Amino acid sequence: MTQGFEDALRERYDHFYGGASHPPANGQYLEVEDPSNARVVAHAARGGDADVRAAVDAALAGFQAWRALLPLERGRRMLDVAQLLVRDVDRLAWLESVDTGKPLSASRADVLTCARYFEYFAGVADKLLGEVLPATHDHLMYSVREPYGVVGHIIPWNGPITQAGRGAAPALCAGNSVVLKPAEQTPITTVEFARLCMEAGLPAGVVNVVTGYGPEAGQALVEDPRVRRISFTGSVVTGRAVLRAAAERILPATVELGGKSPFIVFADAHLKRAAALARKAFVFNTGQICSAGTRLLVHRSVQEAFARHLAQELRGVRIGPGVSDADIGPVISRRQLERVCGYLELAQREGARLVHGGGRPRMPAEVQDGYYVEPTLFADVSNSMRIAREEIFGPVGVLIPFDTDDEAVAIANDSEYGLAAAIWTRDVGRAHRLAARLEAGQVYVNDYQPIGVEAPFGGYKQSGYGREKGLAALHDYTQLKTVIVYRGDESL
Ligand code: ADP
Repeated sequence: MTQGFEDALRERYDHFYGGASHPPANGQYLEVEDPSNARVVAHAARGGDADVRAAVDAALAGFQAWRALLPLERGRRMLDVAQLLVRDVDRLAWLESVDTGKPLSASRADVLTCARYFEYFAGVADKLLGEVLPATHDHLMYSVREPYGVVGHIIPWNGPITQAGRGAAPALCAGNSVVLKPAEQTPITTVEFARLCMEAGLPAGVVNVVTGYGPEAGQALVEDPRVRRISFTGSVVTGRAVLRAAAERILPATVELGGKSPFIVFADAHLKRAAALARKAFVFNTGQICSAGTRLLVHRSVQEAFARHLAQELRGVRIGPGVSDADIGPVISRRQLERVCGYLELAQREGARLVHGGGRPRMPAEVQDGYYVEPTLFADVSNSMRIAREEIFGPVGVLIPFDTDDEAVAIANDSEYGLAAAIWTRDVGRAHRLAARLEAGQVYVNDYQPIGVEAPFGGYKQSGYGREKGLAALHDYTQLKTVIVYRGDESL
């Protein structure tokens, strides 16, 4: 798995729109770093207003060309995108691991998930149905779902290629064209993805990418009056800024923000399996997942046993650079490392008890500048502590004891967020009762995030609104038009 694709790494990643590469209008580039060793591996165009304007020009032309195709044909070309992603999975996964620090196998899974989004929505392209609505005897009334036109997608750094697919596939399926703005830290695979879309025969301008910083390229995308819908995934603070700008022009948006998801373990749960999945819930991707299950609510009678199992799981986590394909890589940046370490110190000041981890691991000399942090577990945490309320976005879990079902629900729902939740019990009635009471967009019973592409995903409360994934995503990328036709006797 450590075979390199160094030749595939470009020195410069320019914008990609209208089917071709374009250098930045201002001539400026930003550095792209490998977080596994803090080395600069490439440069990406620093996009601004002029680049976004040009990309949206291209996307408008792309929209017309895409719209002119039959839905059947759009579906076929999307299937070709899926096949090219599968063909190039090794190259793309290597690039993703260098850019994000993710283990190679996680990057592979992300590329294949991106392919799966295209496969899934390719099959829907010619099945986007309208409705005939009951009306008077003299009227025929029907509703059709129409594309918006140009959709802007602002993408975070924790899953660049998978999130590009998650946003682009349903938007394209519905007949829109897209302009993608990857995070400044991780532009590489988004540009490669746009190139593959062209190779698959999508008309020029259907998939476009502008790289650069959020307040520059991202904001310009939200402010361009020809962009008709936006999807944003990222932090709550940035989400608010994006929504404020969107409000100025009544721009519809899908926003997927943070989480502090509860993982509720009852006394009758299969504790070993629950511990193994808890590790997945808050350690996978070095905890940099908005739906990470970071608040471990455990029935008081089993909390010590559960903590023992979980500590054993955490001792087995191998940490290493992305391309070494360990269990977890570094966090994305120095800033993120400082943020996570700040929470590790805060936890001790707040009186939490350290069960495992708590600092930075010793790493071999060649990667010691990378942004590694140990998987960490704190016990004796109360839900009012900041480490139980704020999203850390690192591999940090907190154990919070509870005594009754009502208390578990109250603690779980006592959060600004509401993205995901897990219930661990063998009592079927309790599982369904709790699933109904939890304020979360996705609820898992005796598992954690087992299903990806097909399951609608999105937030309650400050975790955002709108839904990605599944057929529900199509609603966000279409607008409903109702046509009412008089069919009565015209002589009357
Ligand atoms: P982080 O703070 O962890 O880097 P953000 O939520 O700020 O994460 O970033 C998510 C995405 O939003 C990135 O693509 C980033 O460039 C973009 N972004 C940041 N600020 C803005 C903004 N003001 N307008 C539009 N996009 C932005």
